[in-house]
Amino acid sequence: MESPAKRLDWIVEFIQMDLPNLRRGDLLNLKDEFEEFFSPDSLIRIIGIRPVPLAQLMPNQFEESDFKALQKDLKSILKDPGKQKKLSSLSFSMIPKGQIIDRPTLVHAIGSTRDIFLLLFYFLLAIENPDFEHCPECGRLFLVRRRKKYCGRRCANLASVKRWNKKQQKTNPDFSKDH
Ligand SMILES: [Zn+2]
Repeated sequence: MESPAKRLDWIVEFIQMDLPNLRRGDLLNLKDEFEEFFSPDSLIRIIGIRPVPLAQLMPNQFEESDFKALQKDLKSILKDPGKQKKLSSLSFSMIPKGQIIDRPTLVHAIGSTRDIFLLLFYFLLAIENPDFEHCPECGRLFLVRRRKKYCGRRCANLASVKRWNKKQQKTNPDFSKDH
């Protein structure tokens, strides 16, 4: 999960996860990926922020109910990005110049896992400035890239097959209905 775009892709997937029906293995994968999301390497390089979740509920301690609450937060931000959201646990400090080799300045963001995650989400939105669409074929939310209309190749193919069938039916009314 190196680039901001990949992190946003991950969030979009996460928002649409059917958490109550996740298998045990999938939940474990989710926890791993969630923890990886906080890995500071690229965040330091790109945003200049080192996320420091507080000890009482680290990313790898999140359970289904915590993830559910987070989904709700993310959805509400996407639904109304202009609305103010309180991230009350956060505090910041600057790391003085010269102490970090690969970046001139660095901010420590310290707070609850939830607040730090949402803070990073805001930053990712600001950096990527993405458009979100619902796929007209399957209804899934996705990030629009290069004027793509569908969420993926599968839905784009499905839609083009449907268009083709429709055309066939128009030009050839005998075209069988089992297409
Ligand atoms: Zn789709």
